[in-house]
Amino acid sequence: MKFKALRLWAESLANAVVPRYCIICERRLWATEECTCLSCLMQLPRTGFKGKKGNIVERILWDERITTQRGNSFLYYHPESVYCNIFFSFKYLHNPATAVFYGKMMAHDLEYTDFFQGIDLLVPVPLSGKRFLKRGYNQSERLAAGVSAVTGIPVCTEALQRVSDNVSQTRLTVEERRENVQQIFRLVRPDLVTGKHALLIDDVITTGSTIKQCAYCLLEAEGVKLSVLSLAISYFHSRHVFPHGCDPDYGEEEPAAIG
Ligand SMILES: [Zn+2]
Repeated sequence: MKFKALRLWAESLANAVVPRYCIICERRLWATEECTCLSCLMQLPRTGFKGKKGNIVERILWDERITTQRGNSFLYYHPESVYCNIFFSFKYLHNPATAVFYGKMMAHDLEYTDFFQGIDLLVPVPLSGKRFLKRGYNQSERLAAGVSAVTGIPVCTEALQRVSDNVSQTRLTVEERRENVQQIFRLVRPDLVTGKHALLIDDVITTGSTIKQCAYCLLEAEGVKLSVLSLAISYFHSRHVFPHGCDPDYGEEEPAAIG
């Protein structure tokens, strides 16, 4: 108790000396707030899926090659929303702590469901060596670290590898994006996932092509069960949230490297 009070006092002092600001609205944060102010947290564009069976994440992944156990996304992603700042913060402003914070948030969102039941491993979508060197960390791995901190499920970064970087997706159509992510992942340590229930972790699902390619690789190992969790899913999968003018080709204008 004494330690907690002391830590709060130290944080208040540090906050007074070096002010911190909300990554979304840029309002100054209180000492007890972490990267996002309470007001913005209350207004996050949550999907409300909470791991419900048959939600859009599960439906995107359904095909003749994938049997997904569970799927979930915490937020809707809209390229013109201020909430894009969350992704901008950990992808381009070198704030890995933001990804850990939102990893915890998406795990807490599923805390009172059976979503994590029976899951053995968290497998973040790998980043290419080039992007990793440039950024210094893999944002999906940092999201997985946040999920792990809440659930206690270990993170496995050695099973999957990104063998080549896909070119920028900024100007690609949805169909071109699908082809763009073919054969960019490889299962290098099948022994780590054989017979396990793996939860793939990604930051944003747009077409679902990237996560599907990861899924195909993981399913090469024997007896693998697969589930998927992403921080966000593109808004065009949510006609009930944006009922006016949801264009599936909107992806052409989205930022690079979001797949
Ligand atoms: Zn705010």
